[in-house]
Amino acid sequence: MRYSQFFLKTSKDAKEFDSVNATLLQKGGFIHQTMAGVYTFLPLGLRVLNKIENIVREEMDKLGSELLMPALSPKELWQTTGRLETVDVLFEARGANEASRKKNDASYVLNATHEDVLTPIAQQFRPSYKDLPAAVYQIQTKFRNEPRAKSGLLRGREFRMKDLYSFHASEEDFEDFYEKMKVAYTNTFQRLGIGNDTYVVMASGGSFSKHFSHEFQTRCDTGEDVVFHAMTANVLFNREIAPSHAPPLTQQGEAELPIQEVEGKGLIGVEPLAEYLKIPVEKTTKTILFETQEGEVIAAAVRGTYEINENKLEKIVGKEFRLASPETVKQVTGAEVGYAGLLNLPSEVQIYMDESVKGRKNFETGANRTHYHTINVNFGRDLPEPDQFYDIKVAREGDLHPETGEVYEVFRASEVGNVFRLGTKFTEAFGYTYTDEKGTQQPVLMGSYGIGTSRIMGVLVEKFHDDRGIIWPSQVAPFQVYLAELSADLLVQRAGASAYEQLTKAGIEVLYDDRKNASAGEKLADADLLGILWRLVVSKKTGDKVEVKRRTEDSVEMMGVKEFLRHAF
Ligand code: ATP
Ligand code: MG
Repeated sequence: MRYSQFFLKTSKDAKEFDSVNATLLQKGGFIHQTMAGVYTFLPLGLRVLNKIENIVREEMDKLGSELLMPALSPKELWQTTGRLETVDVLFEARGANEASRKKNDASYVLNATHEDVLTPIAQQFRPSYKDLPAAVYQIQTKFRNEPRAKSGLLRGREFRMKDLYSFHASEEDFEDFYEKMKVAYTNTFQRLGIGNDTYVVMASGGSFSKHFSHEFQTRCDTGEDVVFHAMTANVLFNREIAPSHAPPLTQQGEAELPIQEVEGKGLIGVEPLAEYLKIPVEKTTKTILFETQEGEVIAAAVRGTYEINENKLEKIVGKEFRLASPETVKQVTGAEVGYAGLLNLPSEVQIYMDESVKGRKNFETGANRTHYHTINVNFGRDLPEPDQFYDIKVAREGDLHPETGEVYEVFRASEVGNVFRLGTKFTEAFGYTYTDEKGTQQPVLMGSYGIGTSRIMGVLVEKFHDDRGIIWPSQVAPFQVYLAELSADLLVQRAGASAYEQLTKAGIEVLYDDRKNASAGEKLADADLLGILWRLVVSKKTGDKVEVKRRTEDSVEMMGVKEFLRHAF
């Protein structure tokens, strides 16, 4: 490809975006931001995306057949599964103006995922147990009304995803396929150049599910997820579900002090509270009230430094609940929100205390009286020590893995893919059953498996760059060679054109920088910014050779084009 004929313009514009990938991909002319979270893949960027998606495609072809589902779907499908009401990122599409709505006033769903579209298709094409298992996938554009689109390609409102769905007649068959998918994912990420930094992480398997799902998380500082790694146990958890023990307290042999109510108005957060009360933050207690649909009230308490993990609490309570309304809080505690505590709660309130609350002397808790806190509270003396403590907190750095007692290694990561057991959630909604050998109807089991292909393009830039630009893994780079012609001298032009021809003939993808209006310095800067592995230079000094340099090295070597081909490919 001749640069002069390619739809490409890099920009020296120093605008920095909120992430390295957003900055470098826009400076390099890979993508253009149409609006927050929505990007155009320019010709250069599309080459990278296509290479990523082709690697994913090659690996998925081993396990399923590719199809292409629509971006638009009727609301009825989403109503059938109940998800029209519950998926909180779902977009609607309808005629944008009067004239359009006059012709057709219907509104549709802009698909965020495709279980709801695919299940009835599978039901029609795979009705019998003899047709199972079945697996299909697509690589397609998804739409999600994400509250915060950020970090360039890492979180978009429109993004690319590979989504595969599998259907099974038995649990064993499902499990077998699920394990095969994990292996396929490991191979895929290895081929994409992030294998060594991508971990299989346990994550939530959905509300009330006893199973976990598995996320493929790539270590990356810009990533939104936090991974807890128990090294000796060799398990990793997403922060959302990581089981945890609070680090042991330092206070020991402290004498019990007289319990006391202290006025402390409008102190927001445990840090100011602890400072005001002149106690360590570890002695503060966060008590949060929840209520169930049936009006039961639940109090959950954690050491002040923690947050309540509603996911963990929900599994223990075994019921859905929501944050108690200010009216309920007032009714139960007699106080405004912010002063709930563990003392003297009505007996019908179910109390769940986190293990981080245990073993503390002279701790603080809300006084259940507006503007008041109680200090020097002690189990046994001021309130009975519960028979059981739970793990209902969001894990924090410094916490211990409960099984081994080791301190977790904690790191930020970006979820590049996941594998998920769907059970019969969707098949039951559509009445997709099969008749077994005995003639009875059985529900079909289902799994879903996603890979964020556009997010991966962003993750690659986050991981592989230096202060001059991107350093693509060669298998996904937009071109294999950047050939820069550093002079308009006729002999140099001829040498450039000849090298270009030889390389192209050998099947090498070359970006030939033949621009007449760019300086040598600009061309070399572009070579670094675009991150192509091999940089070849022809100049007045190179004669019948080319100057060869790797993107990652500083040294150059002179050689003929034929020799370069032998050397590099
Ligand atoms: P996340 O927790 O990051 O929102 P998710 O759990 O919603 O992801 P899935 O719905 O399973 O993820 O989507 C499959 C894959 O698609 C994810 O693993 C991720 O790589 C990618 N993905 C999800 N949401 C986005 C987004 N808003 N922008 C870019 N990629 C995304
Ligand atoms: Mg999401």
